[in-house]
Amino acid sequence: MKIDYRNLSKEDILYLLKSEDKTEFDELMQQAYDMKNENVGHKAYYRGIIEFSNICAKDCYYCGIRKSNKGVSRFAMNIREILDCAELAWKMNYGSVVLQSGERTDEEFVAFVEKAIREIKKVSNNELGITISLGEQSEETYRRWFEAGAHRYLIRIETSNNELYKTLHPQDHDFSERFECLNRLRRVGYQVGTGVMIGLPEQTMEDLTNDIIFFKENDIDMIGMGPYIVHHETPLAKKVKDFNKEYQLNLGLKMIALTRLYLKDVNIASTTALQALHHEGREFGLQAGANIIMPNITHTKYREGYQLYDNKPCTDENASMCRACLEGRISKIGEEIGYNEWGDSPHFEKKNKLEK
Ligand code: SAM
Ligand code: SF4
Repeated sequence: MKIDYRNLSKEDILYLLKSEDKTEFDELMQQAYDMKNENVGHKAYYRGIIEFSNICAKDCYYCGIRKSNKGVSRFAMNIREILDCAELAWKMNYGSVVLQSGERTDEEFVAFVEKAIREIKKVSNNELGITISLGEQSEETYRRWFEAGAHRYLIRIETSNNELYKTLHPQDHDFSERFECLNRLRRVGYQVGTGVMIGLPEQTMEDLTNDIIFFKENDIDMIGMGPYIVHHETPLAKKVKDFNKEYQLNLGLKMIALTRLYLKDVNIASTTALQALHHEGREFGLQAGANIIMPNITHTKYREGYQLYDNKPCTDENASMCRACLEGRISKIGEEIGYNEWGDSPHFEKKNKLEK
């Protein structure tokens, strides 16, 4: 089939997702890598991720830290511990940090995060960029965190198929509410990030094609998506008959490549889930068109407590060890690291220029 990679149609995306041809796979990776270099350059930007608490009010069927998993011992870092991680990131010349945790909407939590954001700005001389990934919140909460200094927000829709969404969550989790959060974030002024899990039980290639189209139609600035990985103590694990790591990895890479080709100038993260499937998974992600890496800078003692899925990598390596090993791997594939730079989404920046 003759494919115009610069103007992919819905049929092309579906065809390439379904293709099992190695030559077509390699061609797709090359085309996406070229598209990345043309639109967002050769640099990979770091966002040091701080997974500061595994306390969650939600019960998503796939996630290892869901409320009902009684096998997890719960933790919440204090502000000092969060600042230690942020300072470390700053001293290692990372341009940004990501604050992530289980979902809570109570005032104590909202005020805590607000304070943490303000303090991170202070200790880093206003230099660290801050992305947050703290789930569904009211517009007021999003505004408070924005005014405190966060400027990017990542909330995955998990899947654009409402019916599939229902099979992944209890009844009180609502797709339309999650979708509405994207609008709230945009109104407040954030760079808006979303994404999906790839290779979920009962997910079809049509679903994944629609996910990519959803990203474009909703004018998304940043994409953070990765393969679904089983956590043995979750309800969804029972639906997985045989988990094929190589298949999940390749499907994840194809999704990154197709999203790069279809959306062109957005930021795309090469997520830890890729690394969980292959020790070079994140480098493969960059070669498939991603340009963001999120090294884990959480205190090692808390990593064990943030197991979203089985065999999450780097649980026993501290942040400096992660930095050293990552840097070597990234330069090996010919990419540069954007130290001390925020590396904002070019898509967002272009929109803003047009509006001014
Ligand atoms: N609680 C917030 C939320 O759900 O938006 C942020 C933290 S949550 C752990 C971040 C992401 O982890 C989710 O959006 C989900 O896509 C991903 N995740 C959870 N369990 C996973 C699994 N088993 N495999 C792959 N990704 C998973
Ligand atoms: Fe909580 Fe997020 Fe996990 Fe859902 S995915 S259970 S909201 S941490």
